[in-house]
Amino acid sequence: MDLRCKCGSDCLKPASQILKYSKNLYSSCNKCLEFKLKKFSPLNSQLNLNSLDGNFGKCLNCDKRHLDIVMAHILKIMIDYGLKDKESNLRDVCVPLITPAYPTKSVPYLPEDSLVILSGKMDVICANEILKKVPEVRGVLKGYMNDTVGIKNSTSNPHTYEVLAGCDVRCDIINTPWDFVCIYKYQSQIHIEFPKPLSPKIRGLKKILDEYDNPTVLDCTCGPGTLGIAALKAGARKVIFNDLWYPAVENTIINLKLNGYPLEVSNNRKGLIATGNNFEVYCLDIKELPTVFNNQFNICLVDTFPKIDPKKFVESVEDICEEVLIL
Ligand SMILES: [Zn+2]
Ligand SMILES: [Zn+2]
Repeated sequence: MDLRCKCGSDCLKPASQILKYSKNLYSSCNKCLEFKLKKFSPLNSQLNLNSLDGNFGKCLNCDKRHLDIVMAHILKIMIDYGLKDKESNLRDVCVPLITPAYPTKSVPYLPEDSLVILSGKMDVICANEILKKVPEVRGVLKGYMNDTVGIKNSTSNPHTYEVLAGCDVRCDIINTPWDFVCIYKYQSQIHIEFPKPLSPKIRGLKKILDEYDNPTVLDCTCGPGTLGIAALKAGARKVIFNDLWYPAVENTIINLKLNGYPLEVSNNRKGLIATGNNFEVYCLDIKELPTVFNNQFNICLVDTFPKIDPKKFVESVEDICEEVLIL
């Protein structure tokens, strides 16, 4: 499988490279300028908005800019294009999605090409202007944070964000007790999660994996593959990745490869998409899993959308596993 990004560029990098590159990526240097902008006061009362064009606030030494200045620059362009009121403040410009993302102690200073933004109030012309004028921005999405992207269950319609300009691929660096895992996402198609120092889901996974010696794991709703890849890192004997949402499965395949798990595309079984040394990737409704697997897994992982009752999901798989972990 070609690992070229859908946009045609080489956005997708092996995890080892990302981990090296991302060290101290967002720290300021001793020449960086400090900014104290008030989030709730109109931006135009704190800055001359016209000064924001060009390299305003960029460090001459490390080329980075404070996140607030980048957001101010984006807001200035949105005001120019009539998408935001002249009196707008920094509070609700857009959702900034940094890439590669990991928890940082202080406000990040951004290098070029490190930000995907999501806004409900955006159009193609303004999005392209932002992409052209704001060097930190690599992609502009239209949509709302609260509308979860993907497919809730087999009877619902999928929801996606619209890519208005640039590329929407971004990477989350996930800390696990075994190793760091880099999870790429085409963010228009995969729900947003903000990286935490150690996520409760990873903690739950560790607890259940510790009960077994090299368990077999069925990741029923794998999304971009985070938990299943973490289980492989933890030494699981076999991991089956599955998701009903095909774009999620595509992301899983990319992430397996980039995290060092080579695979082959195969379709000799119902729903099977790819096979690797000790894992397989499927695109099936969770209800169909018992018709494909009669073997007993040690653990089934079920991670549903917020506000979705996992009961039906659990009922679908409880006969083919010893234990179900709801995340
Ligand atoms: Zn790309
Ligand atoms: Zn600097």
